[in-house]
Amino acid sequence: MTPPWALIWDMDGTLVDTARLHFEAWRATCLELQYDFTEADFVATFGRRNPEILDHLFGRRFSEDQVQSIGDRKEAAYREAAAKGGVFLLPGVWDLLQAGRVHAARQAVASSAPKANVELIMELTQTRDFFNETVAMEDTQRGKPDPQVFLIAAERLGVEPGRCVVFEDAVAGVQAAKAAGMACVAVHFVGHHPPERLRAAGADWVVPTLAEIHVDEFRRRVGFAIDAM
Ligand SMILES: [Mg+2]
Repeated sequence: MTPPWALIWDMDGTLVDTARLHFEAWRATCLELQYDFTEADFVATFGRRNPEILDHLFGRRFSEDQVQSIGDRKEAAYREAAAKGGVFLLPGVWDLLQAGRVHAARQAVASSAPKANVELIMELTQTRDFFNETVAMEDTQRGKPDPQVFLIAAERLGVEPGRCVVFEDAVAGVQAAKAAGMACVAVHFVGHHPPERLRAAGADWVVPTLAEIHVDEFRRRVGFAIDAM
């Protein structure tokens, strides 16, 4: 019997496109702090954990408690906007989740976002049943490009890192996946990270959307045998 294998999903920009909602939530939160949060700030901090984003924007100006409460305010603003505006799966995601299930992959979400966001997105997109595990901001001490989030996911799934395939849309996420010793498929549909930078970060396969993924090519690219496929 082949050992188990896994698909590990980044959330924002990979499962769903929530960039606009995050941008607006950061803008509103920073405005209260008399800081004009720009598109450039957004690009520079995309996909990172809130404490690291606040460090980047404000240096070490805030105490740990303040960082927590500012982050909470931003996330509350984001969840309100998500619940109101609706969130939809990106192209190809639903089919790939189904294919993973058919081919007996264990599946996890591994996100820099707070747990409440991950829960909300799974609920809004009706994807909860696909995932055996979720790993969120609260479960990690170090954000991507550190491999911690993916290594925790693999451990919880009971799958060797070398038999995990990560789906990512960010350079830091690709770096984290490769540092974890995993295969990585990068998608550039939402367009925050150009394909050449994803490739340079070590992605095994870069695709415009996850609708491009076909089983034969997938098997060839990820570099390990998946008997069930
Ligand atoms: Mg992402």
